[in-house]
Amino acid sequence: MSADPTGARDEGFDDFVDAVAEGEGYYLECDSGHGSVPPRRVCPDCGGSDLTETPLPDAGELRTYTVTHVATPSFSEDTPYVTAIASFGPVRITGQLREADPEELERGMPVELTTARSATTDRRLLAFDPR
Ligand SMILES: [Zn+2]
Repeated sequence: MSADPTGARDEGFDDFVDAVAEGEGYYLECDSGHGSVPPRRVCPDCGGSDLTETPLPDAGELRTYTVTHVATPSFSEDTPYVTAIASFGPVRITGQLREADPEELERGMPVELTTARSATTDRRLLAFDPR
């Protein structure tokens, strides 16, 4: 797993978060047009290894979300928080949805991909802001 919403880190994922933080988020596209979230060496759909970094669309679409009121200790100061999955072109990204009233969320609403820091651990996370 790469985009782990719990904040687990790895080298390739950090590179991806850096790119998103600079407004240069990208996904990996294989020769067959499948998209995947970095880091990857092969396409998870077809195994193709010729992956091209392709800019993410500016706006994603909220697909699904869950509101967490009681978190594990590593997220205790962030509650309540919304974990969401949004699609950006062919890829789906998991992140924390900020600046949003959980009562007013709707599937299909447009979101922007950004980064945030956990209030509990100070780790960087992928995050979404409503557009
Ligand atoms: Zn593929």
